[in-house]
Amino acid sequence: MDDKPMDDNKEKQSVNFIETIINEELSEGKNDGRIHTRFPPEPNGYLHIGHAKSILLNYGISQEYKGKFNLRFDDTNPTKEEQEYVDSILEDVKWLGADWEDRLFFASDYFDQLYEWAEKIIMNGKAYVDDQPAEKISEQRGTPSKPGTESPFRNRIPEENLDLFRRMKAGEFPNGAKVLRAKVDMTSPNMHMRDPVMYRILHAHHHRTGDKWCLYPMYDWAHGESDYLEGITHSICTLEFEVHRPLYDWFVDQIQEAEYRPRQIEFARLNLSYTVMSKRKLLELVKEGYVNGWDDPRMPTISGLRRRGYTPESLKIFAEKVGVAKRNNVIDVALLEHSVREDLNKKASRVMAVLDPLKVIITNYPENETEILRAENNPEDPDAGYRDLPFSNEVYIERSDFMTDPPKKYFRLAPGREVRLKNAYIIKCEDYKTDEVTGEIVEVYCTYDPESKSGGAGSQRKVKGTLHWVSAQHAIDAEVRQFDRLFKNEDPENVEAGQDYKANLNPDSLTIMKACKVEPGLRDVNPGDKFQFQRMGYFCVDTDSTPEMPVFNRTVPLRDPWSKMSSKK
Ligand code: ATP
Ligand code: MG
Repeated sequence: MDDKPMDDNKEKQSVNFIETIINEELSEGKNDGRIHTRFPPEPNGYLHIGHAKSILLNYGISQEYKGKFNLRFDDTNPTKEEQEYVDSILEDVKWLGADWEDRLFFASDYFDQLYEWAEKIIMNGKAYVDDQPAEKISEQRGTPSKPGTESPFRNRIPEENLDLFRRMKAGEFPNGAKVLRAKVDMTSPNMHMRDPVMYRILHAHHHRTGDKWCLYPMYDWAHGESDYLEGITHSICTLEFEVHRPLYDWFVDQIQEAEYRPRQIEFARLNLSYTVMSKRKLLELVKEGYVNGWDDPRMPTISGLRRRGYTPESLKIFAEKVGVAKRNNVIDVALLEHSVREDLNKKASRVMAVLDPLKVIITNYPENETEILRAENNPEDPDAGYRDLPFSNEVYIERSDFMTDPPKKYFRLAPGREVRLKNAYIIKCEDYKTDEVTGEIVEVYCTYDPESKSGGAGSQRKVKGTLHWVSAQHAIDAEVRQFDRLFKNEDPENVEAGQDYKANLNPDSLTIMKACKVEPGLRDVNPGDKFQFQRMGYFCVDTDSTPEMPVFNRTVPLRDPWSKMSSKK
């Protein structure tokens, strides 16, 4: 096994800080021992590996404590949200194995209730309609060190506010003409508490509520109340929301009707080296054609990772290794690759595929004979069994497995040298032919040792190198797509002045090999099927695959050339 876990102890994770909080609450009998989490995506893009981390954390906690898990779309911004994104998110969350049962919700389901509560807050004198334009409001907010200035509309009486608010809802005013603001504290050191906007006027079509509303709630107002309505006990989010927490609590205070209240807990978002994770940037890469869609196998999206050959289990292994942190950090992307190897090592059948074929003619093997050899499917899985492998006098090997003038430590094929063909025979290179014009090697001539058959009596004879191969007349054609990092720089944001992260895009991140030869057993593969191509890496059948031309994506090479951690050998 090439892939030892980095640090075996890391897998026996101790209790993380969120579990510590929950355990304490349980011992105090809070919420009658009920645990209820949620994942609240905004449907304005496809989910990425960071979201996967959050989904697995939230769902994992609900499972661990025999609680519940909701999926709730935070669809409060109709101009950026689309049904396509809703559909992709549903597919991705399901694929990860997080089961929301019958609890699929949308913040837009609560627009009526939120509106009703807003009227109540207005009547309690805790919210007011402000007629000032957005620039003015933001100017008056002040700075963290300088208190804000009160709006001249701050002291409108509740009745007037209510009347204006109702007219905002009725569509009497254009976009931006008025907002509803919470009346909190313009001098608070926390900028989020300086009379934040609760509602804005937006004459826009919503993917679910259609044209019913021209008034949409802001995230801070909608989010906590949605948690409250659903009975969420732990509202787990990323660290940037820590400063929003007092506002989250303030809003819950305004509507709280029962003893129960949701609690917001923040953890460090997942950042990966060589990766951008912001949805805005991922959208830009898609829209501007830097990648071939959201599910391009080079993307850190869940759909991209799936198409690349990642399994839900591999993402779970990864999420567990990463753990739950309180401080932001950057995780080496090699750890993600390591996790998928760990999973596929157990699951993927070993097969032979020659990506850059060079023909080898075995001169002492009968010309029209086909011999069926036996090959083990997966030495890591005793139940995986064996398969038949045809052998004949012409085989393909990898072009890089032959050299006319090899360096000292080259143990592959070279004039006068012997190698074993995996599961077959030992061959010896007698001669080769080059193209007169280009000098390229076109054929290699070998003899084989009939006594050296793998598994046979003479098979004990040892040679230094073992090569993968396919029988030329039996092999089928295939296309293979190999991927390198999408970004050249560990930190894609590290650019010179005047440039942005796109300056770090790796121009060689995709290599398409169209003349590959794979063993005949791969004729009837289906998209998503996974294999280990011996010596070459893990591969997954792509969605572009057809029966005439199977297409394989390289998920990961066998060992990570970029990483020190798995190359100790
Ligand atoms: P953007 O990428 O534009 O900042 P977002 O990723 O926050 O948006 P949301 O749809 O609001 O988009 O995210 C849904 C949930 O996923 C939130 O609870 C958010 O905290 C969590 N989340 C988002 N990114 C990460 C990440 N990198 N690591 C862990 N959790 C994340
Ligand atoms: Mg967000």
